[in-house]
Amino acid sequence: MNQTTNNKVAIVNLGTELTQGFTLNTNAHWIAGRLRDMGFDVSYQITLPDDASVWTVTWEMIRKADASTVILSGGLGPTEDDKTRDLIATTFNAPLEYIAEWEKPIKAYFAKKGKAYPASNKIQACFPQGSKVLDNPIGTAPGFSISKDGITLFAVPGVPREAREMFDRHVAPYLSTKHPSKFFSRELRLSGISESDMGERFSKVNFHEGTSWSSLPVKDSIIFRTYSHESAETLEKLEKQLIQALGDKDLIVSTDGKNMVETIAELLKSRKETLSTAESCTGGLIASEIVNLPGASDFFKGGAVTYWNDAKRDILGVPQEMLDQFGAVSEEVVKAMAKGALKHYNTDWAVATSGVAGPDGGSTEKPVGFVWMAVASNRKIFAFNEKFSGDREQIRNKSVFKVLNTLRIAILTQKSTCTKVQ
Ligand code: AMP
Ligand code: MG
Repeated sequence: MNQTTNNKVAIVNLGTELTQGFTLNTNAHWIAGRLRDMGFDVSYQITLPDDASVWTVTWEMIRKADASTVILSGGLGPTEDDKTRDLIATTFNAPLEYIAEWEKPIKAYFAKKGKAYPASNKIQACFPQGSKVLDNPIGTAPGFSISKDGITLFAVPGVPREAREMFDRHVAPYLSTKHPSKFFSRELRLSGISESDMGERFSKVNFHEGTSWSSLPVKDSIIFRTYSHESAETLEKLEKQLIQALGDKDLIVSTDGKNMVETIAELLKSRKETLSTAESCTGGLIASEIVNLPGASDFFKGGAVTYWNDAKRDILGVPQEMLDQFGAVSEEVVKAMAKGALKHYNTDWAVATSGVAGPDGGSTEKPVGFVWMAVASNRKIFAFNEKFSGDREQIRNKSVFKVLNTLRIAILTQKSTCTKVQ
């Protein structure tokens, strides 16, 4: 395809702190998201250390990937390790030029902050010949763009705040005049199914040309996104087929981008019902996930972290004999915890967890990862167990979203008029 008309973009992020794992490359993630929303495809993406010793190969790859726009972040600082200007000057055969006019705003930036102007900053007013300088209202380093052989490259600072500002200020306007493409996407969030099982069920669906998909497991669900350059209707039809192929509506957390907690919040608020938690092995994680949502107080009354048996007994009213007879990690106790929360907080719903998060404390009967969970309403209490795999953090997180997903389905299943449990 002719590079000047295509919608393929390459993202290059420079920074040794990125390749060494000190800093997460959030620029790549953020820029890719913006490009996706604007209907552009990232055909190549790479993170390089500051010395960019493989730059020649990288440039070859950019050309092979047929990218017509390159967004490069990082390496525009005033120090020795900031190599972007030199790299581009060489690649574009455009020696660096000092432009006095561009040193003024840099000096002014320091003056405004009441700081002395370091001479080394002069380099930030040097740009490859023929490039367009891009002003940076929130930092010292201006960016620049330069074109050659059907490729336009944008160099922006690495500081995420500045990279975003520069993208919105300079790159996005360029892209929207170049290729104002239509782009549609939909999001299906699933829980209670493995990614491979989902893949198998979806393999029956015919994804015709012009549509594509991506699957992203996150902590509370699998996000299955579909994309089309054609129309929103194409995706609506496709989504119907996907839902049919799934064969079980309970697996669908949302079709509108809401996550697990947002979905539960919406359900409870629409029914004017309330929720409380009683947590042992999850130690407040469920409550924390809920409270992360602004406005959680509309439906979440509170939660108890009852780690010791004494606390389960004294706060939630779990009978001592029950704890002695069955142990804290048991169906009886987790149900009694949920019932205790229901009463203590006077809520319509309660969830409870009690399990072995590890790494120690497992037994043959109750191994590490073995967790009892309960969901209670004023009409029904039920408990279930799982043997989760992973480390302590994973086991606790999986427990949180397993019990929340079960709560979600229970709310959907139960009519909203409740009678009290005795
Ligand atoms: P630079 O412009 O490369 O000197 O980077 C300045 C600051 O921004 C440093 O603290 C970097 O760690 C940070 N930074 C640079 N590139 C990225 C990136 N791709 N993602 C997140 N942070 C970055
Ligand atoms: Mg850097």
